[in-house]
Amino acid sequence: MSETNMAPRDFASAVPACPDELHDECGVFGVWAPSADVARLTYFGLRALQHRGQESTGIAVGDGSTVLIRKDLGLVEQVFSEADLAALQGKVALGHVRYGTSGGKDWEGAQPHLSAIDDVIIALAHNGTLVNTDDIRNELIERNIGFRSTTDTEVAAKLIGYYTQKTHRLRDGIAKTMALIRGAYAMALIRENALYAFRDPNGIRPLVLGELSGARGWVVASETCALEMVGARYVRDVNPGEIIRISDSGLKTMQALPPAVPASCIFEQVYFARPDSVVNGRSVFATRFAMGERLAEEAPASADIVVGVPDSGLPGAEGFASEAGLAVKTGLIKNRYVARTFIQPDQDLRELGVKLKLSALSDVLAGQRVVLVDDSIVRGTTMGQIVKLCREAGAVEVHVRINSPEVTWPCFYGIDTATQDQLISANMSIEGIREVIGADSLAFLSVGGLIAACPRCPGHCAACFTGEYPVAIPPTFSEGSFLEGYEPKALSRRSASLQMSLEDIARIVAEKEGVA
Ligand code: SF4
Repeated sequence: MSETNMAPRDFASAVPACPDELHDECGVFGVWAPSADVARLTYFGLRALQHRGQESTGIAVGDGSTVLIRKDLGLVEQVFSEADLAALQGKVALGHVRYGTSGGKDWEGAQPHLSAIDDVIIALAHNGTLVNTDDIRNELIERNIGFRSTTDTEVAAKLIGYYTQKTHRLRDGIAKTMALIRGAYAMALIRENALYAFRDPNGIRPLVLGELSGARGWVVASETCALEMVGARYVRDVNPGEIIRISDSGLKTMQALPPAVPASCIFEQVYFARPDSVVNGRSVFATRFAMGERLAEEAPASADIVVGVPDSGLPGAEGFASEAGLAVKTGLIKNRYVARTFIQPDQDLRELGVKLKLSALSDVLAGQRVVLVDDSIVRGTTMGQIVKLCREAGAVEVHVRINSPEVTWPCFYGIDTATQDQLISANMSIEGIREVIGADSLAFLSVGGLIAACPRCPGHCAACFTGEYPVAIPPTFSEGSFLEGYEPKALSRRSASLQMSLEDIARIVAEKEGVA
């Protein structure tokens, strides 16, 4: 179905009152360094990853005989005091920042998730979403395994425990779990004396490996900016389907599952990752700049200045201006102390929420024809107000340029777009959106332009732009997510593994040695 053929409808009244931003599910940081203050390193690593989740955070430490943990709702600097860090002494640590998309947003949902396997305590941290945990949870409950939360992370932790009890080796428990779970996962796990890191076979969510200076130890993190923060050098990505184990015996690796079609999330490049992180050998800033250059080639505008919406629209604005030969100006100022738009059902109060986050500079914008560049339009709830701010500051024309294609499809791999009816581009033509936001013109980067602007990599997931989903989604998971007339590509029916028992899966995996 071509969305440009659709008649505009009253989308604004249909969307829930929520911010016009996607949220990543989480950030993960793990460190094995017996001679270092691992809790403090983790604290700093999590500070660098705070943009990936602001609802809750936690640090677990393995001290050689057990695992200690502190976790709570709030930001990293709110949750951890000096005394907390001093109490978390050990040789290996694991940290997590969370924006919950699976399960509750309460204390039990905060990570790392602590779990006992006989007398061994493990802590598990997860970035991503598992799409087949309902069936697995039910099977585990039938085996008298209880659950404290509703998260997919607890299902993975309990499944690892279940298989580890049968195989008596944690890495085998992880491998057998990887053979059963489906979806996007970049996970790290500690026990009292070792750190593990593993990633789904498509490599959808990021996970990098670094080494601390002076060969003092190893770090795994969701982004390279966290390695930078603790003085670790980037070594390589954790490979899709790989398990890395770091302990007193050194770093060991095993390919638990054969790599599947490579599908790293391209939205990391558009919005989620920090601009100073490096992905596939190039900074995210440079990639967003290149997207802006392409956008200017594809959708030029007659204008006087280019203004980026802070922060994630700024690199694209610079790229656009460079290609178009226009000046890039700071026309919008962000209030850094407002974390999220206040969500109010009342339109006046919603506008007030945007004004709390952004203000427009009339001495820059007055009398100008402005190209306004932002990273994406998701629900379309704030762009109209930003255009209005620019006009109130005196802009005579506002041409909106979006540094990514139209977000038309929901994500099932760790991002909080649950249903297509929340996405303005799935509901309206570009002309309809232009009218709603009150812009003089509106254009999006093409999918081809986006992919061409990204550094070479084995393969991307771009499903939220194309509807081509790299991992099969069970109908029960995607039920109600699509609007009538939309046919996602590559969504499978119930996958074969979901029809097997845990014992069947374990037997098949055991038969493929190299896994056990
Ligand atoms: S659907 Fe979009 S946001 Fe989700 S993993 Fe794929 S590219 Fe990323």
